[in-house]
Amino acid sequence: MSTMELKILILPGDGIGPEVTREAVKVLERVASKFNHALSLKEGLLGGIAIKKTGSPFPPETEKLALAADATLMGAVGLPEYDNAPPEKRPEKGLLAIRKALKVYANLRPIKTYKALIDSSPLKNHLVEGTDMIIVRELTGGLYYGTPRGISGQGSEEKGVNTMVYTRAEIERVARYAFGLALKRRRKLTSVDKSNVLETSQLWRRVVTEIAKDYPEVALDHMLVDNCAMQLILNPKRFDVLLTENMFGDILSDEGAVLTGSIGMLPSASIGDKKGGSEVWVGLYEPVHGSAPDIAGQNKANPLGAIISAGAMLAYTFNLQEEANAIYKAVEGVLESGRVTADLHPKNKPATTAEVGQAVCDSI
Ligand code: NAD
Repeated sequence: MSTMELKILILPGDGIGPEVTREAVKVLERVASKFNHALSLKEGLLGGIAIKKTGSPFPPETEKLALAADATLMGAVGLPEYDNAPPEKRPEKGLLAIRKALKVYANLRPIKTYKALIDSSPLKNHLVEGTDMIIVRELTGGLYYGTPRGISGQGSEEKGVNTMVYTRAEIERVARYAFGLALKRRRKLTSVDKSNVLETSQLWRRVVTEIAKDYPEVALDHMLVDNCAMQLILNPKRFDVLLTENMFGDILSDEGAVLTGSIGMLPSASIGDKKGGSEVWVGLYEPVHGSAPDIAGQNKANPLGAIISAGAMLAYTFNLQEEANAIYKAVEGVLESGRVTADLHPKNKPATTAEVGQAVCDSI
């Protein structure tokens, strides 16, 4: 069995962040030992805890550690005491800063239904059962970054401006990533745009169609974003890889998120380029949920979002699919056993954060 060195930075962050990352680390240690990999873990400061200890939500030392690691696993950031702080002194600033430092341009949101949780979906069981897709959202371009932007003028002439802009290179790199991902899955890619109205979308569609020629095994279709918002509800099973630009992805990924139930279950991955010519992809992994101050420090938080994020890290950064599958399978087993945290409404007494983490480890 091949041995790989897995250089991972852990940024526990605030609130329930340290509790859920602790369980994800336990699971990574279990997988590394079972599959004979060398785990090289470092820990750093991000968010509110970093402000308290260093004055900055993303201290230079954390940046150094993140750039040296192959992958970073974050917990969550955010503390109520900073809610009214100026933007530079807010924990959430740390998130944007680390994404920028690592140059992660593709955000992946896997959306998968679990049999044991099917009743927590707002959709009817037969619609949602078997859903298994990944939304690939372009993360560093489009309307959120384009210039000119701003508010100017006065009275009835006062106006707000944002600019949606995409270069061919920006579209190409995220499209290639999405096609590569489709090759490892069911080989279906749906590219979502608004090409009936927007020029950026017309270029998007043209470039994606051109790139598709390099991936003849992948079936490509195009869909307008308004129709896509409907299809996610009407027929979520039809999607395998869904590729889209930044703002459409922001909206569609939250719509996708509610298809499967609790926020505590959802992983997210942001991917950059390959590291120094290797086959390792720089990546930043985090559960979708926030720091949940209402339940922090009570051993109640659902650690599965963080644990599944660790699985995604093995799959996307290190190309260790078998190891990732071992985690996903163990999570499914734990869900079926009913030993889950309170947010998943177990029939019996809810399990603690640590018990759920241990149960996942035990079934790997
Ligand atoms: P939240 O996700 O922290 O919490 C929303 C609700 O879901 C709460 O009732 C919470 O108890 C519950 N919840 C969240 N994660 C859970 C888990 N793992 N297990 C069980 N229940 C869970 O969102 P919020 O309350 O809007 O934000 C709280 C703080 O988190 C704010 O400071 C916000 O800025 C920050 N935030 C950070 C991130 C991030 O780090 N990526 C994302 C969203 C919000």
